[in-house]
Amino acid sequence: KLYNEVQEAKGNIRVFCRCRPLSKAEVTAGHETVVDFDAAKDGELGILSGGSTKKTFKFDRVYTPKDDQVDVFADASPMVMSVLDGYNVCIFAYGQTGTGKTFTMEGTEQNRGVNYRTLEELFKIADERSETFTYNISVSVLEVYNEQIRDLLAASPTSKKLEIKQASEGFHHVPGIVEAKVENTSQIWSVLQAGSSARAVGSNNVNEHSSRSHCMLCIMVRAKNLMNGECTNSKLWLVDLAGSERLAKTDAQGDRLKEAQNINRSLSALGDVISALATKSSHIPYRNSKLTHLLQHSLGGDSKTLMFVQISPSEQDLNETLSSLNFATRVR
Ligand code: ADP
Ligand code: MG
Repeated sequence: KLYNEVQEAKGNIRVFCRCRPLSKAEVTAGHETVVDFDAAKDGELGILSGGSTKKTFKFDRVYTPKDDQVDVFADASPMVMSVLDGYNVCIFAYGQTGTGKTFTMEGTEQNRGVNYRTLEELFKIADERSETFTYNISVSVLEVYNEQIRDLLAASPTSKKLEIKQASEGFHHVPGIVEAKVENTSQIWSVLQAGSSARAVGSNNVNEHSSRSHCMLCIMVRAKNLMNGECTNSKLWLVDLAGSERLAKTDAQGDRLKEAQNINRSLSALGDVISALATKSSHIPYRNSKLTHLLQHSLGGDSKTLMFVQISPSEQDLNETLSSLNFATRVR
């Protein structure tokens, strides 16, 4: 309840910061951690950036490496569940490659992430409300790579060129995209896995490829009120963004350069849209990237947005960490 009051008072954008643990390799190499979690409970994070200087950042939540998938979902779920009340919702994970974006959104079979838990919870609530509502839930899984959209649930994801079309006022869609109906909890994991394994198709290095593309899960909810026959359609986007790290100078040519420019452009476009929304600007530049164009009706208006800014605790990643925290501060 408190959560919703806070939300009313502060608009519709939340930022949660999550820091992964030091990896085994980092521990072995003796890398120090530069993150101070003393005030994490108050949403504060300290970054020790050399000597005795500490830079402080404030977010709606701060997760330490000890917080698990259950802790994270507990805070995200009220916002996610408002999709059942007809709101459009968008959640995305931002950060350098290797900081846990995929861990937070997708998770692993043993430690399932926000995507799985969201669908599981939607089914649970739909079931509890089944005397007054019927819900139809379907999902699409897309990838945006070099400003091209690929349907990860299509039989052959690479064959079709997909475009965004305006179907009617306030409603966009991608004609020809697969919308897989999900009927119960037991189907969720396999649909999500099908999408995620299709990311690898046509690329020689799966991890590299997925860190350079945006992976977007769209959950479409159609609700019918059995009392008055009213129907609502709402959308929930769950986005695992491309890595935000800057390109090493040595890589700055050819395909790598083109990929990096596209990532840079789309992440800046996202930042621009969110900060234009936050300052109530009259022009919101949704059309500057495929990413923001797809998310148009789930960013702004009365829709709800949650951003996970993912960081590494290691001193080696200090510059990227500061740059991610600054990005997240700008949108908040
Ligand atoms: P990204 O998608 O941002 O590139 P990953 O999600 O692939 O990063 O995470 C990198 C590695 O760190 C993976 O092995 C992942 O399992 C691990 N990891 C990330 N976040 C956590 C966490 N909160 N707790 C435990 N392990 C984590
Ligand atoms: Mg990833």
